[in-house]
Amino acid sequence: MDESIPRIVIVGGGFGGLAAAKAFRHTPAHITLIDRTNHHLFQPLLYQVATSVLTPGHIASPIRGILRNQKNITVILAEVTGVDKDRRCVFANSADREEVPLPYDYLILATGVRHSYFGHDEFEKFAPGLKGLADAVAVRNKILQGFEQAEAEEDPSRHRDLLTFVLVGAGPTGVELAGEIALMVRTTLRSDFRRIDPTSARIVLVDMGDRVLGTFSEEISEAAEKRLSKLGVEVRLGQGVEQ
Ligand SMILES: Cc1cc2nc3c(=O)[nH]c(=O)nc-3n(C[C@H](O)[C@H](O)[C@H](O)COP(=O)(O)OP(=O)(O)OC[C@H]3O[C@@H](n4cnc5c(N)ncnc54)[C@H](O)[C@@H]3O)c2cc1C
Repeated sequence: MDESIPRIVIVGGGFGGLAAAKAFRHTPAHITLIDRTNHHLFQPLLYQVATSVLTPGHIASPIRGILRNQKNITVILAEVTGVDKDRRCVFANSADREEVPLPYDYLILATGVRHSYFGHDEFEKFAPGLKGLADAVAVRNKILQGFEQAEAEEDPSRHRDLLTFVLVGAGPTGVELAGEIALMVRTTLRSDFRRIDPTSARIVLVDMGDRVLGTFSEEISEAAEKRLSKLGVEVRLGQGVEQ
């Protein structure tokens, strides 16, 4: 390896990491991009996987394939566990090796974010976040299971509970997901069941703020709320979920 050429380590192959990698396309550098998954995930469409509109393969592309033609970059599938700033190296665990040191001259950390339960981490065991493919598949299975359980349930008085979906948080993800579930019951699932009527599913969207899409303009919030109501989503604002 030519020692005069700088070593750049990028951790994360999301939007940030890939943009950085591509920006160095013509830079004389040895670039190493490390990600704990082998794919770049298009997170904005996770809600469509969570509602069976798309399959995981539709929104995940191999990082190696995306960077195939960029000769100054090496892609490593590993989980970075630490950084030693003084020694200028990161440590990574791969399939069969632990704490492998990877030296750098420049380091870019683009590891993304985790979801927040706003001080209620105990909610996590009931409702996964929606940041990765595994989350989306878990949400999808939970939704579909509700319909399957209701169809198998002879006692009609239990159907309403099984077909009630509560989404907490009316930001973009909650709004998209509520809207998509409402569409799913009216289209894809509409005619597939005998004991239950999927269109009777109750979809409740709760937020402690006073409007949906609180970070957008008031006009957008108003239009979104109208559209959700038209789709049959029950929007409950100004209500914080405590338990
Ligand atoms: C459901 C949802 C909907 C969204 N909709 C929109 C939208 O409509 N419009 C919009 O502009 N934005 C949207 N966003 C936000 C957008 O997707 C994020 O802002 C963007 O993905 C952030 O990019 P990033 O590169 O910082 O992180 P990420 O895309 O999260 O990438 C981080 C990468 O780092 C890797 N990584 C993390 N830790 C390690 C480690 N220790 N070792 C190795 N690798 C690691 C991960 O595997 C991942 O590949 C949405 C997000 C979500 C979750």
